[in-house]
Amino acid sequence: MSDYHSAYDLVSAVKPAGPVFCQRPHAVRAAARWFRENFPGRCLYAVKANPSPWVITILAEEGYSFDVASLDEARRVRALAPEAMLGFMHPVKAYEAIREAYFDLGIRTFSLDSLSELQKIMAATDNAQDLTLCVRLRVSSELSKVSLGAKFGAGPDEASILLAAVRQKAERLGICFHVGSQAMHPGAFAAAMDLAERAIVEAGVIVDILDVGGGFPAPYPGYMAPPLEDYVAMITARFGELLVASNCELWCEPGRALSAESMSLVVRVEARRGHELYINDGVYGALFDAGQLGWTYPVRLLRPRINPSETGFSFYGPTCDDYDHMKGPFYLPSDTGVGDYIEIGNIGAYGAAMATRFNGFGAFEEFLVEDAPMLTAYGRMAQLPVPFTQTEENNA
Ligand SMILES: *Cc1c(COP(=O)(O)O)cnc(C)c1O
Repeated sequence: MSDYHSAYDLVSAVKPAGPVFCQRPHAVRAAARWFRENFPGRCLYAVKANPSPWVITILAEEGYSFDVASLDEARRVRALAPEAMLGFMHPVKAYEAIREAYFDLGIRTFSLDSLSELQKIMAATDNAQDLTLCVRLRVSSELSKVSLGAKFGAGPDEASILLAAVRQKAERLGICFHVGSQAMHPGAFAAAMDLAERAIVEAGVIVDILDVGGGFPAPYPGYMAPPLEDYVAMITARFGELLVASNCELWCEPGRALSAESMSLVVRVEARRGHELYINDGVYGALFDAGQLGWTYPVRLLRPRINPSETGFSFYGPTCDDYDHMKGPFYLPSDTGVGDYIEIGNIGAYGAAMATRFNGFGAFEEFLVEDAPMLTAYGRMAQLPVPFTQTEENNA
C-alpha cells in the first residue's frame, strides 16, 4: 500500500529534485481514534488545517463531522463525505455561501457573532426552522501560540443579547469559542468555559450545544504541551460542573491535533552559507509558520550515517526575497551541506494547506510512507530524539 517505508527509502530511490510530501494516513487514523475514544462528545474536524482528500476521507470513515469555513471547503467535504454532518463555523459568511450550504449541501449548523449575521442567515435560508446556530464567544488566546482572539467573537455584553436573540430563531442553540491554536495549557479551555457559563446565565437561555472549538496541541520541539489527556480531562470535568449544561451536547473542532502528524516534508539543501541552509521549500510553501511564527518542526538528515555533532541552522527558502527565512534553530549534523535531504516532520497541519505558487515554486510530489511520525502525541514516541540510523543491510 505504501510507496516507501520511510522518507529515507524514498530519497534513496527517487532522489527528488523538488520538495516532497510524505503522507502518513495511519497517523490521521490514530489521531482520529484517540479523539473518538477519549473525547466525550462530537468531534468536527476543522478542515482548514489540512483539506487533503485522503485526510477528509479517513476522518469520514472514522465517523467524524466537519467544521468548514468556506463554500469551497463545504463542497469538497460534501463530495467526499455525503453522509457527514457539516458545520459552517465561520462567523462572517457570504449570503450566497449560506444559501448553497443550506439548500444544496445539507448544512444546518452555522456559527455567528453578530445580529447582522443572524439576519443574513435567516434571510439566506428563507427563515428555516431547523437550524442549529452557535454563538461564537470572544475568549482569550493568551495561552496559545496562534491567536484567534481578535477577529471574531461576541464580547461579554453582546454575547448574552445575541444568545437571547438566536434562541428565538434557532431550533438548537449552541455556544462556541476558539482558545487559539496550539493551546499550551488545558486551563485555556476551563477559562473559556467559565466565560461561556457566565454568558448563558446572563442571557437566561437553555443551550443545546457547548462547542469548545480547536486549539488542541500537537508536538513540536520547543512547543511540547501537556498530554492531550489533560485537556480532555479538564474539559470533561468543567463540563460536568456546568449547571446550565444539563441537557447539553459537548462538541470540539480539532484541526491541528488531528492532522499535524499526517505529513512530513522532504527538502534538499541547494546551498550552504555558514549556518544558513538554502532549501527548496520555504515560507511561501509549506513552511509559512516556520517563518511567520518562528515555528520549529522536528528535523532529521536523511543520510545512512550521521555525524553526531550538531549545529543549529536557519533556513532560507527558494524564492527571491529576504522574507523567505526560517530562523529555527533547526538542529542538524554540523556537516550538513549541498545535496543533502532533510525531513521536516509534523507538517500536516497548516503546512501544505498554506502553500502558494509564488515565484514558480510550491509544486510538491507526494508519496505514501508507513513509518511513525517524527513526534507523536498518540502513544509510541517515534525516532526524533535518536539520530537517524540505517542498518548495514538496508544500506546495501
Ligand atoms: C482554525 C479553527 C479550528 C481548528 O483549530 P486548531 O487549532 O487547528 O485545532 C477550529 N475551529 C475554528 C472555528 C477555527 O477557526
